[in-house]
Amino acid sequence: MPCPTCGSILVRFGKFIICPQCNKVPILNKKNAIFELYKNELAVEERINEIIRKAFNKNKLIIELCWERERFARKFFEEYQALEANAFLSSNLLILRIITDDSFSGRKTVEPYEIKALIDGFKAIIESKEIRFLLMQGFAEPMPLGNKIHSLYNEKYFPILYTYAIYDILEEAEAKEKIKEYLPLLNLAKAKAKKTQYSPELFIHKFYPTIHQFYCCFFTRNELYTEVFGLLKHFAKEKLTPYNLMALVNSYLMNHNSLYHTSSSEFIKRAKKYFRMDAKKIRNSLIFSERNTKIFPFFVEINGRVYISHRATFLVFILLHAIVYKKIFDKETETKSRDFEKEEVKKIFQNMGWQYLTNITDKKKATLEIDGIAIYGRKMIVIECKGWKLKPFSEYKNQQDQITRDLKGIVDGLKYSKRKPKPIPPLLEKIQFAKQNMSKWDLDPKKIDSVEGLIILRNYPPITEYKGIQISCIKDLEKKYNFRTYR
Ligand SMILES: [Zn+2]
Repeated sequence: MPCPTCGSILVRFGKFIICPQCNKVPILNKKNAIFELYKNELAVEERINEIIRKAFNKNKLIIELCWERERFARKFFEEYQALEANAFLSSNLLILRIITDDSFSGRKTVEPYEIKALIDGFKAIIESKEIRFLLMQGFAEPMPLGNKIHSLYNEKYFPILYTYAIYDILEEAEAKEKIKEYLPLLNLAKAKAKKTQYSPELFIHKFYPTIHQFYCCFFTRNELYTEVFGLLKHFAKEKLTPYNLMALVNSYLMNHNSLYHTSSSEFIKRAKKYFRMDAKKIRNSLIFSERNTKIFPFFVEINGRVYISHRATFLVFILLHAIVYKKIFDKETETKSRDFEKEEVKKIFQNMGWQYLTNITDKKKATLEIDGIAIYGRKMIVIECKGWKLKPFSEYKNQQDQITRDLKGIVDGLKYSKRKPKPIPPLLEKIQFAKQNMSKWDLDPKKIDSVEGLIILRNYPPITEYKGIQISCIKDLEKKYNFRTYR
């Protein structure tokens, strides 16, 4: 909601949500700020390049970046940490950029603290690009901070921010649950056998939340991520099996303090066994090198040696399920959404002491179907559930606009697809139907004062009300609909 006093769009300032106008926060001209940020990014990147080109031996630098990437992945699985997507992106981006850079003249071997500083520097550039992106999309407002530009998220961005929080940042208790989820994954990562006990179907079913989290954080976030993880599409195009990839990786020893490496000829010979392709194809599809930079850098070739990244490959292997087995992944999403509609919401209402009815249909009109009706005291709510997942490029403004359009469509009775919108029973009509048919479900109309409509989503919706219908994220139900008083 905009500021009730002056109508300005609200922003988040530290922990507070404030009106920049009424609180006299200086807001910069957006166009200028975007240009300034862009100029600064170029300058910082140029400065970083200048330093590393002069100082470091290029090949050793790439190897160290691969090792840093691997350490990140090992830490992620072995001691739970929040998924720092920008750090993983940063090391991969650097590998991609540096391998094609011909201007290196340095000889020095890079030190661990220097690698860390390099990745942090690049992370800062990535963050600036993300903020610039948000400014361009109308999701943030720029303010001056010293001689720098600081961006404040505005209220249009709040639902996306809250939704990322569901997937990304976990409460301590949830984090412990997450470790339990990763444990079998870690065991799997260590599996030496050629065949794991999992089929793609079973793997996707069992580890769906993690795959989905990776998919949202790496694959669909914005263009910067697409530059790196979009390279994985070649895996699907060439019908390479992720399981063969892991089997090949796990056939090599995992060193404790460095990456294992082998000669290119040995690697090709071994990879042939797992992938059944000729040497040329192996080279083109699997070995990332100065001459072959259009594939994802799983196996990086430097001076005739191929470097194996065990856990980094495994991390991407998990993500590959959503790309290579997209059909199975989408089917699982559908099943999960159905469960969401049928069971999850019901449980929450029942736990709050509500009576909950499901599978409500109109015998005279087969298309009219109500997901759920919840009753508490003299209040009745007609519920529609949408287990929407984060969609690709959820940070794009038109993506949010589409969700808004779809939500309004539920109320008004229009279902949107690629073609013309299709008429469906409007939620408003379903509410009328529920009002008139209470007695069929053994409810006494005299004992019900109000009948309302409610749409429930897994994610935070861009609008929270439309034509008197409430729209809520599943996470907020407890806050909004728990009327029991506790002693
Ligand atoms: Zn105001």
